[in-house]
Amino acid sequence: MELIKTISAMKNVRADLKGSIGFIPTMGAIHQGHLSLVDEAKKNDFLIASIFVNPTQFGENEDLESYPQNIKKDLEKFADYNVDYVFLPTSKQMYPDGFKSWVTVDKITNILCGESRPNHFRGVTTIVNKLINIVKPDYMYMGLKDFQQIVVIETMIKELNIDTKIVRCPIIREDSGLAMSSRNAYLDSKEKEQATSLYKSLMYAKQTSKIGDKSSEIIEEIKQRIVSKSGRIDYVKIVDTNSLYDTKIIDKDSHIVLAVFWGNTRLIDNMRIYD
Ligand code: AMP
Repeated sequence: MELIKTISAMKNVRADLKGSIGFIPTMGAIHQGHLSLVDEAKKNDFLIASIFVNPTQFGENEDLESYPQNIKKDLEKFADYNVDYVFLPTSKQMYPDGFKSWVTVDKITNILCGESRPNHFRGVTTIVNKLINIVKPDYMYMGLKDFQQIVVIETMIKELNIDTKIVRCPIIREDSGLAMSSRNAYLDSKEKEQATSLYKSLMYAKQTSKIGDKSSEIIEEIKQRIVSKSGRIDYVKIVDTNSLYDTKIIDKDSHIVLAVFWGNTRLIDNMRIYD
């Protein structure tokens, strides 16, 4: 496995690769959720992963400074999974002084996570655009854990005529049902147990709701179950899986999305009612 630290070196290496490229962008603190994307990407001739804690997608009072980082361990994990190249640029390279070019997707970035995290998706679309321009992957592997992020990136890819194809990968969970996330490291054991209420309430809703049911009643039930486990609700919504807009009545495209705090730790999860 080769470690590449500069944009120019990454572009040079890429230019010499003949065959399909699978790309896995990450912010590091690699866990089994990330590694499942690597497994999916093995269909390609070459695997490139990136590790970059993207400062522009964090809000002022968010966890940029404390975001978990362990580059040495991350590199070992990627090497074990036969990643060919890891791109590890610095912030200074990605955002030189005076940086002023942004990629934005309207409307669907202002709802759900975009409502409580203004500018978050502008940071995501900008960095993903830059990474795609540098790595020029044929396929980019992304987790459904960040459901809104996938929809936003797919919209950008389609509307800006970018050639890279997005491959949606399933959510990987702990045995308890808690979706794996680098941010789970912030939780103590009690909070970790309480946070299983996210998965449990999503499963409950999936198993009990029927086409024609009122979304508001299901949302209330989910909220109560989470609040009873000390979760502080950011949002719980039922949206159309394609448009991300609220659906008042359950139909075949209904998708439950939520964000909940335990202490300062904000966790997200989601589940489609009919797969
Ligand atoms: P992050 O490092 O959190 O930015 O995540 C990098 C990629 O890994 C994103 O496409 C995430 O959706 C994906 N990912 C993170 N956690 C999981 C998980 N539990 N299951 C599947 N994909 C995940």
